[in-house]
Amino acid sequence: MLRILKRALTAGVVTDSYPAITAEPPDGFRGKPVIDFARCTACDRCVAACPTDAITVETTSDHHAIDTVEKTLTLNYGDCIFCGECEAACPEAVHLSKEFQLATISKADLRTQARYTVDKDGVFALAEIVSQAPSQDDRLEEIGATVREKVRQLFGRSLHIREVDAGSCNGCEVEITALNNPIYDIERFGVHFVASPRHADMLLVTGPVTRNMEIALKQTYEATPDPKLVVAVGACAIGGGIFGKSYATWGGVDTVIPVDAFIPGCPPRPEALLHGILVAIDRYPHRSSLNTGSSHKEGAKGTT
Ligand code: SF4
Ligand code: SF4
Repeated sequence: MLRILKRALTAGVVTDSYPAITAEPPDGFRGKPVIDFARCTACDRCVAACPTDAITVETTSDHHAIDTVEKTLTLNYGDCIFCGECEAACPEAVHLSKEFQLATISKADLRTQARYTVDKDGVFALAEIVSQAPSQDDRLEEIGATVREKVRQLFGRSLHIREVDAGSCNGCEVEITALNNPIYDIERFGVHFVASPRHADMLLVTGPVTRNMEIALKQTYEATPDPKLVVAVGACAIGGGIFGKSYATWGGVDTVIPVDAFIPGCPPRPEALLHGILVAIDRYPHRSSLNTGSSHKEGAKGTT
């Protein structure tokens, strides 16, 4: 007993300071792949290497110059499983950064895209960077306040989350479970996981939504009192991930129920989950104004 007490006293505070202090992932961590479009030669090596078709290329003819074709290269972070194959295929133009705060409220914001022209001699030129997913620093500034402040401001009480596994490999669940350990300790922000959707404000959904889970997910959504938030966690929940859309899977949560925020990753690390929950909470005032259904209390009258 004394030994345990001594260890507890000497260990000090182990809890992570994120989001008050930006977290630095360990060496070897594979975060957001970044394409240096100025170095890219539109050779498609990364496209061929990508196992989930997160990088795609579309070739079209340029109507103004007959001998020239246009290539549009798109990287969709929602489909990315952060495997690093693109970097291995093209280390000159692609590298995996340590950025992990990639959550957005719109799938369109998960795309980065550039357009190239290639003439008949194979000479290419970068024509335009069509869209660029916002960088980590942009988003940090955009978000500003901490989870605790947001929860207190908007809910005036705690935020309750019900986790729904809609066919995941359980990789995402391992990271979600870590949110409750002493290092990430999500309860310090007033965020609690609950056993019933009737007591929840937010659904955290993982997996590509297997056909067998479709009805269960819809019923869980219906059972959650309005206004509610839904967060799709991981590549599977965003667009099917490695499972894609098939006879057995729907290929993403938003094909079945409305989604308020998307957290890329395979799986997303706990800080990325925390960041995504924060992004979703920013949507809460919008959700509240749309609310025409039952209040939280009314909804909570039902039983599980
Ligand atoms: S890191 Fe992402 S974009 Fe690159 S090959 Fe893997 S899945 Fe594709
Ligand atoms: S996103 Fe990756 S870790 Fe999460 S359920 Fe899908 S395959 Fe597993």
